[in-house]
Amino acid sequence: MARRKKIYEGKAKTLFEGPEPGTLVQYFKDDATAFNAVKHEIIDGKGVINNRISEYFMVGLGQIGIPTHFIKRLNMREQLIKAVEIVPLEIIVRNFAAGTLSKRLNIKEGTALPRPIVEFSLKDDTLGDPLVPEEYIIAFNWASQQDLDDIVALALRVNDFISGVMYGAGIKVIDFKIEVGRIFDNDFQRLVVADEISPDSCRLWDLDTGRKLDKDVFRENLGNLRDAYTEVADRLGIMPKLSVGSTKPTLVK
Ligand code: 5GP
Repeated sequence: MARRKKIYEGKAKTLFEGPEPGTLVQYFKDDATAFNAVKHEIIDGKGVINNRISEYFMVGLGQIGIPTHFIKRLNMREQLIKAVEIVPLEIIVRNFAAGTLSKRLNIKEGTALPRPIVEFSLKDDTLGDPLVPEEYIIAFNWASQQDLDDIVALALRVNDFISGVMYGAGIKVIDFKIEVGRIFDNDFQRLVVADEISPDSCRLWDLDTGRKLDKDVFRENLGNLRDAYTEVADRLGIMPKLSVGSTKPTLVK
């Protein structure tokens, strides 16, 4: 059997060459990392859940007219995606204060923000993904002003969609991170949502109790990460028959 060509290996996902030009296979690993990979554990089944949750949101975004890299899910851990040129930025949208915003400005976690805030970090692990102003982005040519305007509009639409869907599941979207890729079509470029949308990249709190259902469970040692992610999937109606912790084999289509 021929070995697939690995294109890129990140902390939580691996990209392999796809079956056709312009495609890639995105494999979701079980690795959980935090604090720039200083904390690292294998959470059995996490990749399976994130593959499903990300599929759910990417398909939904596509259905309301927001372009993404997603083509189809291939199996429990893999999805077929369009090969894109990743814009080297992490695009963060915040609805409520938490994480680095709370620390930087000393705002209590959970405080509602006057409006959604979109901010950018440079995707560079060696620098710890530093927050960067638009001036830097344009001066260093990581993206143009037009790209940034389009990215902010895209990020706010994604925010409205995932906040609305999560609200229906009794979950508050505190903040999230997306990545954006370029797809070229002759003289034109299209910006699409790339990477993943999962509890690894969002802060998700129970609407009533504020209980955390995202990677902060791992970052802050609040309990079992897989249980939290499984609860998100269950509430969204994804994988209703899959009990990841079950000892019995379960067929997952
Ligand atoms: P913060 O800046 O408060 O650490 O993160 C804001 C939001 O972006 C959180 O939902 C966090 O999970 C997400 N985020 C920030 N950086 C990364 C990253 O490097 N990887 C992932 N998966 N999510 C990130």
